[in-house]
Amino acid sequence: MESILQKSVTLSELVDLASFQEVCQSFVELYRIAIKVFDASGAKLVDAKVPDELCGYVFTFAPGRQQCTALVNQIKSFAPESPEVTEFNCFTGQRYKIVPVYYDHDCLGKLVYGPYIPAEQNDLPASVTGLDVGIDAAKLRASTEQIRRVAEPTIQRILDNLKKVVDVILFTSYKGLLTSNMHIESITESYNELQEKNRQLKESYERLKELDKLKSNFLATVSHELRTPLTSVIGYSEMLLEGLAGDLNNEQREYISTIMEKGDNLLQLITGILDISKIESGTLKFSISETRLDEIIESSLSSVRPQAVKGGITLAKAVSADLPPIQADRDKIRQVIVNLLGNAVKFTPKGGRITVSAETIADGDAGMGGAQFNPFEALAPRWVKICVSDTGIGIPKDNLDKVFETFYQVDNSSTREFGGTGLGLSIVKNFVESHGGHVSVDSEVGVGSTFTLVLPVDGKKPEEVPVLVDDTRRASAAGVGGERNASVTGYGKR
Ligand code: ADP
Repeated sequence: MESILQKSVTLSELVDLASFQEVCQSFVELYRIAIKVFDASGAKLVDAKVPDELCGYVFTFAPGRQQCTALVNQIKSFAPESPEVTEFNCFTGQRYKIVPVYYDHDCLGKLVYGPYIPAEQNDLPASVTGLDVGIDAAKLRASTEQIRRVAEPTIQRILDNLKKVVDVILFTSYKGLLTSNMHIESITESYNELQEKNRQLKESYERLKELDKLKSNFLATVSHELRTPLTSVIGYSEMLLEGLAGDLNNEQREYISTIMEKGDNLLQLITGILDISKIESGTLKFSISETRLDEIIESSLSSVRPQAVKGGITLAKAVSADLPPIQADRDKIRQVIVNLLGNAVKFTPKGGRITVSAETIADGDAGMGGAQFNPFEALAPRWVKICVSDTGIGIPKDNLDKVFETFYQVDNSSTREFGGTGLGLSIVKNFVESHGGHVSVDSEVGVGSTFTLVLPVDGKKPEEVPVLVDDTRRASAAGVGGERNASVTGYGKR
């Protein structure tokens, strides 16, 4: 785009025509001499007239018409070559001054000042009195009465003033035009820059999306390929431990146990990565069916019992008797509870206690607000709440919202005490939210942690997950850290 600084502007672009016409009009009223302004292309911008009977009268004669038209054309086509004023004399004895309109060395047009009769002229010239045989000398004289007679020095002064006023108008107009155009130019420039940045950003985003997909596919393939041989390593270790290939001495038994344990850890890591890559690529399938949570909780507890016993940790269950079955993907919900229990066992020291509780939440209790209590028609519960509480090391407050992020671990030092991948909770969150539920955590360092899941009974994805208003009753009923849990006052607005 050409800048206003390089562009040549026309007179009509520059000035506000209405005010320019008004200024010219006031000059005309003041001196009773007409003003016309033309731009560089010859277009008339101002035509402030004064009645002129002389011109009208001579125009009724053919030779008058001819000469008048010739002069008008001459004035109209005159293109000033310098800022000097040029004079044009009419055969009627009248005079015009042509004032070039210049701005910054550019001629933008011309101002035609006149006609007037020069004061030194005493009588009408022969060129008009002898114009035609039929011309009435008395009428001619009478018609000159209203035309201003002005001495040249006066005209000079008027033109000087007029030029000054026009210069001021041009200067201020140019400044205004410059400012507004510069403003538009800079906005346009920024807009174009922004558009370009947007385009680049979009390109990068598409590329990243593509790369992310490639990464997920790669991870899925690699994890899958790693899992098969690893399962064999674990299976054969198991068979060796069972003595299927002959008796083992204690040292061999110890070595193979280590191979099996590490193999198991690796398998867990690979399974986690596979799950995450499936979640990220959107290829994870959910198969929803009627799911009994008490059974799932029991089987999850069984799977962590050996480690709990080894770590001297007590496992407790507080599942309410009227818990309805929920519509969910059984395996996914089991994995969620196993992940939470696995963490609880891992992060709870000897002598600690882990409690899994499950109960329904009434809409009213859950702070849904809209539900009305009707004694004749009990509302079917719409939500179940599962809590996994431990008396473990706890999580610092400022890490609470990060633990659900992929690969996040509170202790990420190379010397960290607890194993793990940082994937477990991110899988939990994804699985629970895919069911239309919500997961949250409350914890206190050195006291313990409670992970709470809220799941819809009917398996339908709701608009909004309920907000718990008070959690104290459940916490004390389950017999774990009532005070700590009392601080759970609300979660769930997603
Ligand atoms: P991982 O347990 O494999 O490290 P997770 O995603 O399951 O990964 O957990 C992320 C982090 O959250 C853990 O590394 C730990 O710092 C913290 N965390 C999770 N559960 C507990 C818990 N019950 N007690 C204390 N810290 C926990």
